[in-house]
Amino acid sequence: MPEFLQVLPPDAARARWLDAVTHRVNEENVRAEDALGRVIARALASPEPLPAFRRATVDGYAVRAADTFGATDALPAYLRVVGEVRMGERASVALRTGEAVLIHTGGMLPDAADAVVMIEHTQEFTPGEIEVMRPVAPGENVVQVGEDVMPGAVILPAGRRVMPQDIGGLLAVGVAGDVPVMCRPRVHIFSTGDELVPPETGTLGPGQIRDINSGTIGALCRRAGAEVIHGGIIPDQPGALLVALETALPRADLLVVTAGSSVSVRDLTADAIDRLGEPGVLVHGVAARPGKPTILGAAGGKPVIGLPGNPVSAFVMFTLFGLPAIAHLLGAAASPQIAVPARVSRNIPSSAGREDYVPVRLVQRDGEQWAEPVLGKSNLIFTLIGADGLLRVALDATGLREGAWGEVILFV
Ligand code: AMP
Ligand code: MG
Repeated sequence: MPEFLQVLPPDAARARWLDAVTHRVNEENVRAEDALGRVIARALASPEPLPAFRRATVDGYAVRAADTFGATDALPAYLRVVGEVRMGERASVALRTGEAVLIHTGGMLPDAADAVVMIEHTQEFTPGEIEVMRPVAPGENVVQVGEDVMPGAVILPAGRRVMPQDIGGLLAVGVAGDVPVMCRPRVHIFSTGDELVPPETGTLGPGQIRDINSGTIGALCRRAGAEVIHGGIIPDQPGALLVALETALPRADLLVVTAGSSVSVRDLTADAIDRLGEPGVLVHGVAARPGKPTILGAAGGKPVIGLPGNPVSAFVMFTLFGLPAIAHLLGAAASPQIAVPARVSRNIPSSAGREDYVPVRLVQRDGEQWAEPVLGKSNLIFTLIGADGLLRVALDATGLREGAWGEVILFV
């Protein structure tokens, strides 16, 4: 079993894997104000029209449009001002032909009015009488009932990640509580390796290193809207990881294991994932660098991912596979990656049939954006910290020549 079964391109690997992931998280209700970043579980329809009454969009006078037809500076229309619409109240005056009512932006139009003349296009003629210098068409400077949203219209579709403006929309139509959202996926994260010690360890023994990956991967998960459960450090002992995974599986939506994924007798992750349940390992080896020895599997419809131990590989591969898996569990589209074009400052080797992800810093030179690879051996966490994003070398490219344009996926 634990050889690279077949190294797949990242997109094909992801598709094969997520096809087997039938599990989805449950729904829960949250208050609109707590819904930021959550994924809408069921399409939400507006219970009422917005606005619920006809509103002025400018400061001015509510009028019958026909009373202003043909008005010019030289030949203004003369209207009697019969009152004022107070904000938050219905107009108390009825409007008859030849009359106007003072109104403020957002005010409720009197029944008989059908337009608003901007204050700038009027002037007082005598107290209680104005001159209108421009005509208005019916509906001008007015928002009609339901013009923003009609009752019954879908305001947020299922799968939508709630943005700040969505919260405004929900509150506007009175949906303040009980917004149905998908529960946060519970991601259980395990680190493996006898050399690892908990990150809070003060003094390291010889040969020991602090567990970096559970922190980095945990942070990526939380930012993607998941809840993280740290499963701790599992020793490199046959059987230990399987027991840990079996215990976690019933309560987990996604299992993540870092390290122990390359081909060696001591690499036990693939074996544990394969024994965990059907269908077991689906992908062992991805045509990407860094991160080739990635393992993708499933047990009982739930996704399991075995990441390489190297902190940079683990980070890049979790971005490529773990984040889309979280979106899949939520029934949401994967969050769009933000990429910018940049010219590469030196030759970037790659081989056809492999995607490369190179940590780069973005610099402006001669009005153009350049991507400078962050120097240092690959797989050092501080190469990521010194970078603005990852330069992606496409699957079919054989590298990028100095000066060529490439695409940099920004860290956000
Ligand atoms: P492995 O995938 O087990 O071959 O590990 C590859 C490299 O990553 C080794 O140098 C490990 O010591 C290192 N490594 C594995 N897990 C972690 C971790 N959680 N944090 C930091 N480094 C790790
Ligand atoms: Mg190891």
